[in-house]
Amino acid sequence: MQKSYHVDEKGYYGQFGGSFVPEMLYPNMKILQESYLKIMNEPSFQEEFHSLLKDYVGRPSPLYLAKRLSEKYGAKIYLKREDLNHTGAHKINNTIGQILLAKRLGKKKIIAETGAGQHGVATATVCALAGMQCTVYMGAIDIERQAPNVARMKMLGAEVVPAMSGSKTLKDATNEAIRAWISDPVNIHYIIGSVVGFHPYPDMVARFQSVISEEMKWQLKEKENTENPDYIIACVGGGSNAAGAFYHYLDQEQVGLIAVEASGRGVDSGASAATSVLGKEGIIHGSKTLLMQTEDGQIIEPYSISAGLDYPGVGPQHAYLFESGRAEFLNATDDEAMKAGLELCKLEGIIPAIESSHALAALSKKRFKKDDIVVVNLSGRGDKDLDTYIKYFDL
Ligand SMILES: *Cc1c(COP(=O)(O)O)cnc(C)c1O
Repeated sequence: MQKSYHVDEKGYYGQFGGSFVPEMLYPNMKILQESYLKIMNEPSFQEEFHSLLKDYVGRPSPLYLAKRLSEKYGAKIYLKREDLNHTGAHKINNTIGQILLAKRLGKKKIIAETGAGQHGVATATVCALAGMQCTVYMGAIDIERQAPNVARMKMLGAEVVPAMSGSKTLKDATNEAIRAWISDPVNIHYIIGSVVGFHPYPDMVARFQSVISEEMKWQLKEKENTENPDYIIACVGGGSNAAGAFYHYLDQEQVGLIAVEASGRGVDSGASAATSVLGKEGIIHGSKTLLMQTEDGQIIEPYSISAGLDYPGVGPQHAYLFESGRAEFLNATDDEAMKAGLELCKLEGIIPAIESSHALAALSKKRFKKDDIVVVNLSGRGDKDLDTYIKYFDL
């Protein structure tokens, strides 16, 4: 049998994945596991999903041949412009899908976790769209650091609840969200923001994000007369934009998949988020994956200049893509990413999110052939990062 990089019936990718949940959530998890594909495959669901992606999100996102960037790196470099989506990143693809699913499951309330606030904003947005009550859990420290996104969520009608436990950041917000869910699992749907968590979340989120590679196929066919690029490059925090950009190419082994993690101040600096290199097998938020942890299993606080990449784990599919060698995992430091981000501004007139700048930084780490077709998934725009760019470059 051919090796599959997709989830199996038990919710595993190789040895990674699964569903390790508190007993109180078990019945709900079962319902979600048994119904998500059925609901997603209904023609009326597909129709509503794709119509919102088109008219609300603004899809398809362009596939843009970046001429000056191509010249610089000696290959044909295309940018998949997720930065042009409504709310400025790929995250809205997933939240639109999940809000439609929540409605069909008869849910009354939505909860979400957020780190930098990007997923919180994308969730608050679709809750406004659907007229659903929305509570976003956010680390108390992140609330201080990300004031504009907190304001956005409030304007969109969401309640923002500070997570006061632990390091008061993303993983603590996730723990709070799970606690809140346990208090009312029948009425609440939890919109997770990446390909992490217990089965079916990693597969469900990857499927909603797979619209990225679905579009890439026909866009490349139009422009290059082939559906397959030589390489696809995407940054990985939890891994949802990469999962979406890789999805329809997983079984096309001739397409090189490159995942770029954030190595912060350097892989060995103690201030990094390069999970695949530094991580060991462990369980976080309901799934078995690669996880940055101490000898006795305490989670190590990740660091990156980019708030969207500092998750201590990666989704279970990425752990498997790493371990099986199907995807090549590179990493970029803060400095490399910031330089690559500024380079895109100067060469192409596009200000990227700092997360996406990590993917761009991988261009200088590879040797391409002149005719190679390389797609960089530009996961988001840089408006939210202006403060960081200003401080870093003393602008
Ligand atoms: C949140 C975010 C990411 C990281 O999340 P993934 O699930 O790894 O995609 C990357 N880029 C942008 C612009 C983001 O907002």
